[in-house]
Amino acid sequence: MSHDPDFYFPAPRLQKFCGQCATPITRRILEGDNRERDVCEACGAVHYQNPRLVVGTLPIWNDKILLCLRAIEPRANTWTLPAGFMELGETIGQGAERETQEEAGAQITLGKLYTVVDIPHVDQVHVYFLAHAISPDLDPGPETLEARWYGIDEIPWDNLSFRSVSTTLKHYLREREIGHFDTHHYSLFAANRPGD
Ligand SMILES: [Zn+2]
Repeated sequence: MSHDPDFYFPAPRLQKFCGQCATPITRRILEGDNRERDVCEACGAVHYQNPRLVVGTLPIWNDKILLCLRAIEPRANTWTLPAGFMELGETIGQGAERETQEEAGAQITLGKLYTVVDIPHVDQVHVYFLAHAISPDLDPGPETLEARWYGIDEIPWDNLSFRSVSTTLKHYLREREIGHFDTHHYSLFAANRPGD
């Protein structure tokens, strides 16, 4: 099988073949379990799937908020807080700092754990930290068309990428008024816009 060398995509969560022995996968409930799993009847491997963590930051510089214009799908050409999938072997804080560096080229000091957002219909949890920029310098990476500091009154509410971004920003703007920031845990459920 071959593909366009310029085209790669994230593989679906559910695989067709066993990663251990390449036999086609069976989906069934195993004895003692309570939900369907991807099972290999040839070698006995059970391919468990679990939610993924998206980690990011809400970076502040002189009362301005850093947003990144996404260069890639999903939601290309919409503005997001810098965030991305946590990598193996890192902490959530390290992942949030790394994504902020990769997507915006921003140097930050990580602050409070700010929002933890369950999004069960896409099997993700989004986690954002407050962050303070060490300088306003930005150097966006290949996944970002543009990174810029938005004033409080300039936030492009009609063109934000994900509901976890808009809700995190709303919490921030509300608490900025009272000068006290709590950590927020909440859930977002399926809406008209799939994928967030
Ligand atoms: Zn197998």
